[in-house]
Amino acid sequence: MKILIVGGAGYIGSHMCKMLVHSGSEIIVLDNLSTGFQEMVKYGEFVQGDLANQELLDSLLMKNEFDGVIHFAANSLVGESMSNPSKYYQNNVGNTLNLLDAMVRHDVKNFIFSSTAATFGEPEYSPIDERHPQKPINPYGASKLMVERILQDYANAYGLNSVSLRYFNACGADPEGEMGECHDPETHLIPLILQAASGRRKCITVFGRDYATGDGTCVRDYIHINDLCSAHALALDMIVSGKKDGALAYNLGNGHGFSVQQVIDVVKKVVAEDGCNLVVEEGERRAGDPAVLVADSSLARQTLGWQPKYGDLETIVRHAWAWEKTFV
Ligand code: UDP
Repeated sequence: MKILIVGGAGYIGSHMCKMLVHSGSEIIVLDNLSTGFQEMVKYGEFVQGDLANQELLDSLLMKNEFDGVIHFAANSLVGESMSNPSKYYQNNVGNTLNLLDAMVRHDVKNFIFSSTAATFGEPEYSPIDERHPQKPINPYGASKLMVERILQDYANAYGLNSVSLRYFNACGADPEGEMGECHDPETHLIPLILQAASGRRKCITVFGRDYATGDGTCVRDYIHINDLCSAHALALDMIVSGKKDGALAYNLGNGHGFSVQQVIDVVKKVVAEDGCNLVVEEGERRAGDPAVLVADSSLARQTLGWQPKYGDLETIVRHAWAWEKTFV
């Protein structure tokens, strides 16, 4: 297969590229490097460019016969989306429309879209399956939901097949240590705790201990980056082979929740083997954080035959720690 990976210089995209090339696909990475890093593009041909550039999209799609497009390029900071919604609607919705319209013009029929648990908003029940109402509470989640809706209309009108994959908490790193999580600024729990352990950060702050959970800290569903990527590969195969068509959507998580404190405890255990420790500080709740977010991924397991390999939090933390150690 020949695949265009938009946002292939980012955290999830870079791991996806490796997986696809290893399974025999030919890939081209398109990335504007606004949040990604060229050093993370270790597989495939790299094209630096922006989805706002329609001529570039036309020339890329004219020169290459892509079997499908996987779209990771988006802004994904909830707080920033609250203070600068324009950026989120312009990029996550407007630029995605440019990409979809170019696909329609050039008759590229298969699209895998990075969606998010943030499309659900405040959970009405847990674990969250695909029937859960989608009522996003921030512009980031709203922008992703808009694209999900656009994809339904594009399936009906233009026969564009798509799979929206709603990630819960992506984490971990390439088990072979070639790549890992790299955000600037970093806002995610596991890399922040690991940075506190490696000395790149002074401490980790726990955002609230007064939630209605077992130990009072927020519970999340942490899913290994390679497991996320294997779901993309399966989803792409499913629509490219014609097994299913239309606009489909699946929730991707392990189905197990871990509290912030449990994650800290696992990290402490792993880093202690290298003689490291970390300082934990107490902080206020972060606005917009639901107490519990856990996925019911039965539909993805049944339909895609998806089987997460790294459900165990300690393995996830070990891979992420090996990556963190490359920075010190
Ligand atoms: N969190 C925390 N301290 C931090 C960063 C995150 O306590 O410095 C908590 C956050 O409140 C949430 C969980 O860790 O409950 C996961 O947050 P993250 O930003 O990694 O992912 P999110 O669930 O927001 O997508």
